[in-house]
Amino acid sequence: MEFSYDDQNIFARILRGEIPNKTVFENDHALAFHDIEPQAPVHVLVIPKGAYVSLDHFAGAATPEEQAGFMQAVAEVCRITGVDDGFRAIANTRAHGVQDVPHFHLHIIGGRHLGRMLP
Ligand code: C5P
Repeated sequence: MEFSYDDQNIFARILRGEIPNKTVFENDHALAFHDIEPQAPVHVLVIPKGAYVSLDHFAGAATPEEQAGFMQAVAEVCRITGVDDGFRAIANTRAHGVQDVPHFHLHIIGGRHLGRMLP
């Protein structure tokens, strides 16, 4: 499918420094920051710095370096937040996935037992 990126979305603005964020980790290809409305003691969003709207866009179009940088950020978030007892990683995608912000982001949620959730 065709992916169209809106560069005025709120995470694009965070990446440009127009809106503050509570950064957990950053490298050349990704930024991780605390969710503004945490759903658990740990609730961090990991986003690529590139203009990707969704997980399937990122997985299909990002370079190996971008994908490696993103996964390094995921690993660092898990290490820094200490979610050794486990966590949930969620990528809400488009309408059926109830994605609000059209810039790919992975929620890393943990710090408590999360219960069963499928879907
Ligand atoms: O996956 P979805 O697009 O629905 O989630 C967007 C997330 O971005 C929400 O959890 C919301 O709290 C978070 N958010 C944020 N900072 C903003 C705007 C939204 O952390 N400035």
